Amino acid sequence: MNNKKQLTLADPVTSLSGIGSKLRDKLERIGIVNIQDLLFHLPYRYIDRTHLTPIGALRPGYDAYIQGDIELTQIKYGKRRSLLCRISDGTGSVILRFFYFSKSQEKGLQRGLTLRCYGQVRRGPNSLEIIHPEYRRVEDNINEELDEQLTPVYPSTEGLQQTRLRKLSEQALETLRHDEHGLIELLPELILSSHNLPTLANALEYVHRPPPDADIKSLLEGQHPAQQRLSFEELLAHQLSLLELRDELRTEQSPEFAKSSKLVPAYLNNLPFKLTQAQEKAYRTIEKDLSKSIAMLRLVQGDVGSGKTVVAALASLQAIEADYQVAIMAPTELLAEQHFNTFQEWLNPLAVDVVYLTGKLKKSARTEVENRLLEKKPVVAIGTHALFQESISFSRLGLVIIDEQHRFGVHQRLALLEKGRKHHVYPHQLIMTATPIPRTLTMTAYADLDHTIIDELPPNRQETSTSIISNERRDTIIERINIVCNEGRQVYWVCTLIEESESLQCETAIDTWETLKQKLPRLNIGLIHGRMKSNEKEFVMQEFKQGRIKLLVSTTVIEVGVDVPNASLMIIENAERLGLSQLHQLRGRIGRGEIKSDCVLMYQQPLGDLSKKRLEIMRTNTNGFVIAEKDLELRGPGEVLGTRQAGIPDMRVADLMRDARLLPDIQQAAKTLIKDHPEQVKLLIRRWLGNRLDYSNV
Ligand code: ADP
Ligand code: MG
Repeated sequence: MNNKKQLTLADPVTSLSGIGSKLRDKLERIGIVNIQDLLFHLPYRYIDRTHLTPIGALRPGYDAYIQGDIELTQIKYGKRRSLLCRISDGTGSVILRFFYFSKSQEKGLQRGLTLRCYGQVRRGPNSLEIIHPEYRRVEDNINEELDEQLTPVYPSTEGLQQTRLRKLSEQALETLRHDEHGLIELLPELILSSHNLPTLANALEYVHRPPPDADIKSLLEGQHPAQQRLSFEELLAHQLSLLELRDELRTEQSPEFAKSSKLVPAYLNNLPFKLTQAQEKAYRTIEKDLSKSIAMLRLVQGDVGSGKTVVAALASLQAIEADYQVAIMAPTELLAEQHFNTFQEWLNPLAVDVVYLTGKLKKSARTEVENRLLEKKPVVAIGTHALFQESISFSRLGLVIIDEQHRFGVHQRLALLEKGRKHHVYPHQLIMTATPIPRTLTMTAYADLDHTIIDELPPNRQETSTSIISNERRDTIIERINIVCNEGRQVYWVCTLIEESESLQCETAIDTWETLKQKLPRLNIGLIHGRMKSNEKEFVMQEFKQGRIKLLVSTTVIEVGVDVPNASLMIIENAERLGLSQLHQLRGRIGRGEIKSDCVLMYQQPLGDLSKKRLEIMRTNTNGFVIAEKDLELRGPGEVLGTRQAGIPDMRVADLMRDARLLPDIQQAAKTLIKDHPEQVKLLIRRWLGNRLDYSNV
């Protein structure tokens, strides 16, 4: 090193020793081009092998490092063959479960041997388990050493090992020590001093290589000042990029749609109900937006069942009457299909064409739709994200509607904006979500949008009552299903399993379906899950909608949008494992008609205090916004409210939910930067979002 030229942070990674073109390409794939990028490629978690946890103290949902003696090793046959190995340390026992294993592995796990294991603890069918732990044999009586510090784990890509990434980050830190000036402080001085934050260099050093005396708990929870400092900067960068995008978008030209004088009045006339005041108000705002030549960018938030689809139809008709095309995108095939049916029913009598497009369409049908969109004629195209694939091109796209936006994520949404921009006409955008995103968060994740809230449910809705019942009382519930179905109502039974793969979720649903068929032989019971072909799903949904299927057993595929007003009872299994927003979405499938509906949250014993509190929130609240706010308050560390649900982008250190309290200051900082240090804005965005700003290939 000594006689070599000293590196700077701005040098390309290839100037580090041992980086050839192959490794360079891999690094580039994860956005690392220069040495500074390596510094900002932060660990997303740590492995804590600094102490052993007594097996009796294990808690589901947490990683643990344990040591114990093998008591029993056996292969369990069943739906899925697995190798089980029970180990114990005198304080308790835990099962190690392997779905993939070799003969020699099985032989190596003999009774009496001592193992050290690392992995995430979860609740198994009979006891706590660790699936596919890292493990190795240790000699029984020898006190083997423990790690002195946390081991960072980096986001990676295929063929890029953790050890390699650790070495690279070490080299980057080495460079930083020689080139402190290469790292530019981009946060305003005032922010740094008022929050008592460590310097950027110190924060990076700490997060990459926590020292032995580090406060492990706060690091694992992402609360350490070093992490908070980086989170602050990252959130600020996201906020700035959204604000910048918004400014750019506001300069685009869009078509002006005059107020509709034919289609909208005719549609309203045909509707079997009157708009609620909130729907009316939302549409009036949208109507005005659409009549301007500045692109509309509006987020409509309305709780489940508030009738957002009608608002989407009204906006569509205004565009159609102005001779433009409309694209409506839904997150699942199920929902796209349902919208297609609804829109056909509503719009065909008005002689408006509606077409349907998903990825699963046959080539010929697809070509037909593609050709239709190329014609310069108004049409409403409904589909999944297939609508925005390369091969699809609209001749006169004037309005894009994205339903249940939270399922797409900010980046996909932005990708759509980019796609729209390629066309000579820039379409208006209407984004709809039922996910109650706490207001603090909307300000950040959706800073580029205008907001409208539909805060009223259609009249005559009966509030859904919710009860919390142990799954030991399944039989009572099954009786209740019988009664409800005999009264002519319909029922959902939702099977959940969050930590496992989709395929396991499907298997559970199939099992439950089999069991329920035996227990309720006289009922027509349907099954729907994610691995069914789309025409099978469609068939089952139609049967349920028409009332031929009385009880529908499903996975969480029915979570969003599904609308069958005659369904009045929903049972959600393992409700304690789901996020509150997701439960709220699911529960929103019932209580859609004039019948009083009931939701049963079924849980598995034993139920922890926090879980109890959360289910209690569900029982006593029906307003999605309130539920989301309370969830945020209650959320203890370690508990994950999936970002998927909130439509929040991937972040490196920050977590919008966890770090929500930083947001007001971040918004303030964003304003200050734009006003007083505009030259730093681009630098911050580049540092944290880097090449990800190219959304065209999301
Ligand atoms: P969401 O906001 O969850 O998307 P939907 O648009 O699916 O809600 O509407 C839920 C149900 O309420 C549908 O069956 C719809 O036909 C009905 N609905 C919508 N608006 C009204 C209204 N103003 N009066 C009565 N029923 C309505
Ligand atoms: Mg909807």
